[in-house]
Amino acid sequence: ATPTALLVGTGRGAQLGILIKGPQVLESTRRVDTIVLDKTGTITTGRMTLSSVVPHECGSVDELLALAGAAESGSEHPIARAITAGAVSKLGPLLPSSAFLSEQGLGVQAEVDGRLVLVGRPAWLVERWGLRVPIELQAVLGTAEGLGKTAVMVAWEGQVRGVLTVADTVKPTSAGAVERFRALGLTPMLVTGDNLAAAQNVAASVGITDVTAGVLPADKARVIARLQAEGHVVAMVGDGVNDAVALATADLGIAMGSGTDVAIEASDLTLMRSDLLAAADAIRLSRRTLTTIK
Ligand code: ADP
Ligand code: MG
Repeated sequence: ATPTALLVGTGRGAQLGILIKGPQVLESTRRVDTIVLDKTGTITTGRMTLSSVVPHECGSVDELLALAGAAESGSEHPIARAITAGAVSKLGPLLPSSAFLSEQGLGVQAEVDGRLVLVGRPAWLVERWGLRVPIELQAVLGTAEGLGKTAVMVAWEGQVRGVLTVADTVKPTSAGAVERFRALGLTPMLVTGDNLAAAQNVAASVGITDVTAGVLPADKARVIARLQAEGHVVAMVGDGVNDAVALATADLGIAMGSGTDVAIEASDLTLMRSDLLAAADAIRLSRRTLTTIK
C-alpha cells in the first residue's frame, strides 16, 4: 500500500463526510464480514419522545412526571431527554435535584424534594434495589414492550411508583443501508441494551434477523469478542457512551458524528452524516481504495 494512494482514499472520505483516524484503518475494512449495529441513535434517530406516564398508588401523573423529570435532568441519555422534555412541556421548569448518579445502561438516581428517586430498567430496580413490581404495572410493562416501546420504572421510598414509556423512530435510510451491508457481503446484527421486543420491532423494520437484546455495555464488547473468536472480522457502529468499549473492541469501530465524544474517541471512523448509508459508503470506499493501490 503506498501512503499517497491511501491518503487519496482518506481525502475522498472527508468529501463524503467520513473522518478516518489514520490510513491504516482502511486495511482493516477489507476483511470485515459482520457489522454489529447499536439501536438507539444508530438505527433509530435517538430522539425519543415520552408516550405514556402510568402512576401506581403514588398519586398523580404530574407527581410521577415531576420527580422522574428532575431525577433525569443530570443524564444525557435519549430516554432521559425524552422524560425531561415531557416534564418541562407539561409542568414547566423542573424541580431542583441533587446527588445525581447514573449507572451506564441501567438507570439513574437523584434526590428530589427530599426523596431518593430511581428511574431505570425494570430489572435494575428489582435486582439492584430489591423492589417488587406491582402486578398492575407488570401488565403495563408487558403491553408497552409488546408494542415495541421502551419502558422504564420509577421508584422512591422503597416502592415502585410508576412506569414511563418512550418511543423512538427508525431513520428513513436505515433499511436501505442494511440492504447495502448485505450487498457488500456483511452480516448485519443488532445489539442493544433495550428490551427484546423493542429490539425485534426495530430489527424487523430494517430487515435484520440477528438480535441480541438486554445487554449491558460491557456485554456489547463481549458479543463482539465472541464473534472474533469464531473467526469473524467485525465492524461496530454506535453512538453512545455505552458503545465505547464495543467500538474499541471491534476490528473497525464506526461512530455516528452526532454521538458522544467517548464513542468518537473509541472509533476508527466517524460519520459526519449521522446515517448508516455513510457507513456503507465508508466500507465501499475503503475497499475500492485498497483495490486501486494493489
Ligand atoms: P441502547 O443499547 O439501546 O443504546 P442503553 O444501554 O443505553 O441502550 O440502555 C439500556 C437500558 O437501560 C434502557 O433501555 C433503559 O431501560 C435503561 N437506561 C439507561 N439509561 C437510562 C436513563 N438515563 N434513564 C432510565 N433508564 C435508563
Ligand atoms: Mg445508542
